[in-house]
Amino acid sequence: MTIGTITNHRSREEGAIIYPVHSRRSGGLSIGVNLFPDRKVCSFNCPYCEVFPFEADVFFSMETMKSALCRTVQEAQKNGVPIKDICFSGNGEPTMSPFFTEAVTAAAAIRSELAPEAKLVAITNGTGLLNQAVFQFLKTASLPGIDLHIWLKLDAATEAWYNAVDRSAVPFMELVSRIRDFAGSGAPFTIQTMLCKIKSALPPPEESAAWVQLVTELAALSAASVRDCCAVGHTGATGGYCVTENKPHIRAVQLYGKARPAPEDPLAEAAPTEALEERAALLRGALDKAGMIVPVEVYK
Ligand code: SF4
Repeated sequence: MTIGTITNHRSREEGAIIYPVHSRRSGGLSIGVNLFPDRKVCSFNCPYCEVFPFEADVFFSMETMKSALCRTVQEAQKNGVPIKDICFSGNGEPTMSPFFTEAVTAAAAIRSELAPEAKLVAITNGTGLLNQAVFQFLKTASLPGIDLHIWLKLDAATEAWYNAVDRSAVPFMELVSRIRDFAGSGAPFTIQTMLCKIKSALPPPEESAAWVQLVTELAALSAASVRDCCAVGHTGATGGYCVTENKPHIRAVQLYGKARPAPEDPLAEAAPTEALEERAALLRGALDKAGMIVPVEVYK
């Protein structure tokens, strides 16, 4: 595996715990951490999921993760490739691993020692928030110190689209309720939404309207938590933007399209670029009207 030339995630289906990839959302080299080298483990069953069926006779261990991460960071640095982030993603939902908190804490220490410029990212579908211990860990880890960047999936804002695009047994209303709690907890995070066609159909207009409303509501809850943090020593906040930390508490909304093959193709298909831009424009308009400062990014 040559650092800097990696374009797909296949190695993680060959038992890799650490897998360097070129990431469009990170804008460069992302070092993936896969907590499930032996099988996919996830509480969602997204039809666009890129994890192909596989079997690998490899088991996760903290020692292997730490040594492989150190080695990969050093190899990238030797090759002069800037590391954009170290990202927990892999073959499933990272918060479902019993190693999750230990692995994030260890990766944060390695990042601080070897690559302080790299972000530490966890991509999650949010179902871990239903577990109070995971909720609390994510909240604490998102703050200065570990400074974990949480990319929280929010593909749907209506139950009907959730059932089509995420196909989860986790009750939709319970999940949304915990995401609301998380937004109001003062934890900074990024919202990440896959916009694709399912069975050749784009999300209906009522889904788009509900999504814009829900994201705007989450931004407002987050903005209120910024006011709380400023009340305890920060110098000021406006529109959800914390002046002291120089960032919004909802760091960004990432709208992304289907760009890679999936085992269930063509059940899910890429949406036209205009659909992503249209959705982004609707959200920007709503956030603007509400006086909220949140970057809305589109990844086609
Ligand atoms: S949440 Fe991620 S890993 Fe889980 S099914 Fe969906 S795309 Fe796949």
